[in-house]
Amino acid sequence: MREKDCIFCKISSGEIPSNTIYEDEEFRVILDLAPAAKGHALIIPKEHFADIYEITEEVACSAMKLAKRMAVHMTEVLGCEGFNILQNNHEVAGQTVFHFHMHLIPRYQNAKNEDILVWSHETFSPEEMEQIRDMLKQE
Ligand code: 5GP
Ligand code: ZN
Repeated sequence: MREKDCIFCKISSGEIPSNTIYEDEEFRVILDLAPAAKGHALIIPKEHFADIYEITEEVACSAMKLAKRMAVHMTEVLGCEGFNILQNNHEVAGQTVFHFHMHLIPRYQNAKNEDILVWSHETFSPEEMEQIRDMLKQE
């Protein structure tokens, strides 16, 4: 299913051209237009899901399998020293395109922007940590 006016629906279907590095029936992998590092790519399912809440477990599993294969391939070819896989959901978490995608970000020693993914740390008391644990615990 595609959604009208969704840029990633148009890119994944090929309606809008992109620098594609992999394509199959379910996914297109493209270079990010504003890369955080050389080779920064995006895994985009061809079916429209807004985010992690909407995507099916099946497609999410396939996306992760593809991320694994792409990370190995890209690391070999680019010679990067590390790799981030990132996936944002909702504006507050940094999502700007509301069609599920996974960022594949090669990381290099001595890169210009080493702090791509740096966050400050919050502190919780041991009691608060226990409350959070109990709230989140799943059977
Ligand atoms: P988000 O912030 O939603 O996790 O990531 C969206 C990503 O898509 C950004 O890194 C942005 O640079 C990239 N992007 C947005 N529009 C386009 C586009 O038209 N083409 C490509 N190749 N990347 C895009
Ligand atoms: Zn879409």
